[in-house]
Amino acid sequence: MKKATKFLTMTLAMVMTVCTLTACGGAAKGNTLTFGTNAEFPPFEYVTSNGAIGEYDGIDMAIAKQIAEDNGMTAAMENMEFDSLLVALQNGQIDAVIAGMTATDERKETVDFSTPYYTATQVMIVREDSDITAATDMADKKICVIQGYTGEICVQDMGYTYEAFKKGTEAVMELVNGKCDVVVIDSATAKKYVGDNEGLKIVEDPGAFESEEYAIAVQKGNTELLDKINKSIDKMLADGTVNELAVKYTEEATAE
Ligand code: GLN
Repeated sequence: MKKATKFLTMTLAMVMTVCTLTACGGAAKGNTLTFGTNAEFPPFEYVTSNGAIGEYDGIDMAIAKQIAEDNGMTAAMENMEFDSLLVALQNGQIDAVIAGMTATDERKETVDFSTPYYTATQVMIVREDSDITAATDMADKKICVIQGYTGEICVQDMGYTYEAFKKGTEAVMELVNGKCDVVVIDSATAKKYVGDNEGLKIVEDPGAFESEEYAIAVQKGNTELLDKINKSIDKMLADGTVNELAVKYTEEATAE
């Protein structure tokens, strides 16, 4: 009997230790803010050896880390295909999406967006000898886009046929290899690719491509989290943090 009591006490002690270590009862989850991203979008998110959040680095990753810290939480990052992000958010697999994501009216139908933190536009990446000088010049050209990006939607709306790739790097390789004539993609990411690959240039056409605003997405109606995110973003916009990060990661991204 005495032995049994001792055994019970020990078992209880062990269970309690395990509980403390793994934070039973959801305490760990409660203290972790899980973001989803698609780490194929430099300078906003990319994979590196030692990033702001684990192996992920970029402007968005530093912003996500700061948002979590401002709220006494730890940021976790789940890397997935861009197309899967909003589904994962709605499923509750992730708490928020930070992925250089443009707050479009269509996306606003399914998720809520934070205060915008970055303004971008679509541009055309072409080879240096290209005769494309405006969006209308794409009419008879082979166009590459990235699946699910706003660039794809723009080209679709213009009524042009195109080929969609899963990754920006794949589309840019097609361009470098002469298999397509133009890649339509977000401005800052385009600059990074042009810096990384010889013989490419950017063509802008502000009349054809409207400006876009990047924002963080949360589940529709999750005002509690949205308020926390917005407070943090407002602070980072006001004190110049977002600007500093944009400069830092743009320089790093082109210097690589
Ligand atoms: N801004 C673009 C969009 O929202 C591309 C974003 C991205 O690739 N991460 O579709």
